[in-house]
Amino acid sequence: MTKPLNPGQTIGILGGGQLGRMLSMAAARLGLKVHIYEPGANPPAGETAHRLTTASYDDAEALAAFAESVDVVTYEFENVPAAALDLIEARVPIRPNRQTLATSQDRLAEKTFLIDIGLATAPFATVNTEADLAQALAQIGMPSILKTRRLGYDGKGQARINDRHDAPAALAAMNGADAILEGFVNFDREISVIAARGLDDTIACFEPGENVHKDGILDTTRVPADISAATRERAFGIAGTILTALDYIGVIGVEMFVSSDNLIINEFAPRVHNSGHWTEAGAVIDQFEQHIRAVAGWPLVDPLRHSDVEMTNLIGDDINQTHDIACETGARLHLYGKAEARPGRKMGHVTRILGPVTDRN
Ligand code: AMP
Repeated sequence: MTKPLNPGQTIGILGGGQLGRMLSMAAARLGLKVHIYEPGANPPAGETAHRLTTASYDDAEALAAFAESVDVVTYEFENVPAAALDLIEARVPIRPNRQTLATSQDRLAEKTFLIDIGLATAPFATVNTEADLAQALAQIGMPSILKTRRLGYDGKGQARINDRHDAPAALAAMNGADAILEGFVNFDREISVIAARGLDDTIACFEPGENVHKDGILDTTRVPADISAATRERAFGIAGTILTALDYIGVIGVEMFVSSDNLIINEFAPRVHNSGHWTEAGAVIDQFEQHIRAVAGWPLVDPLRHSDVEMTNLIGDDINQTHDIACETGARLHLYGKAEARPGRKMGHVTRILGPVTDRN
């Protein structure tokens, strides 16, 4: 399908978390329907989507029925098994494409891809055994971080190695999964660029946000990031290079370390991204609508920023601040409808406008 979707047509979304919830709301605003496919019961997106299928990613019958019921498929969760995607792709286009998913599902493939297109990453080496780890440590040095190649998120599946004594426990923490060792980047700050590419090859980048993590989980994103105009331009260039190289359609989140004016790419997420939630309060279009537009074949919007803004995640018990935040003028509260607040679980977020744009843009 290369024609744009018409209002009333349906976008299928794999994954029913908060990102799917916010994508569903953006789609509804444009008169497009969303059908969520999610294995877990009562997902956050189920409350806002037109239709919900609750079935596992190996239920061929449910996947086929889902694919038959939609006009295009996108995802808010990267780790969808390849067999499920094969089944869907035989019936309906998947945006962003399969190559993108395969690349982003595996840290080794992702880093290799980034190096191949001329971009910088932390030094890395594959580690499957104790002997590999010893060799990788000799090559990369310490401090370094051992990460599972697949299925890691929010700092999970990672172990820091400060000296050789940490190595056995780090390897044990991988639970036998294939891993990579990454050199520790002594960064000044972390930024991310939320960018989009449309069916007509247009590329549109949101202003880079500056991210602060706590315990491996995003805590705040502040825009604008405290970076030079030249670094900002290079960050846009990097996002554009990745989008073009992947022949990408949709919104991407590219996380980068800024280290004395060098930009080192940590990873990219082939979907809307937590560090792009600020766009709802601070720009003329938000990342969710931009993604819906891209996958529906609609024109992208130039994502001009009109305000300085800070987004704060509400994690676990932070949900208890709901009443206070609701009393705050100018604070935009988003709750994800999750019944149980577990430690480390993203329950919602708040965006606060800090004032009109203070610099470039
Ligand atoms: P990740 O899951 O790979 O995005 O890592 C989560 C967070 O851990 C990052 O946002 C950084 O704050 C930190 N981190 C990950 N990899 C590195 C690295 N190679 N050097 C320094 N910090 C890192």
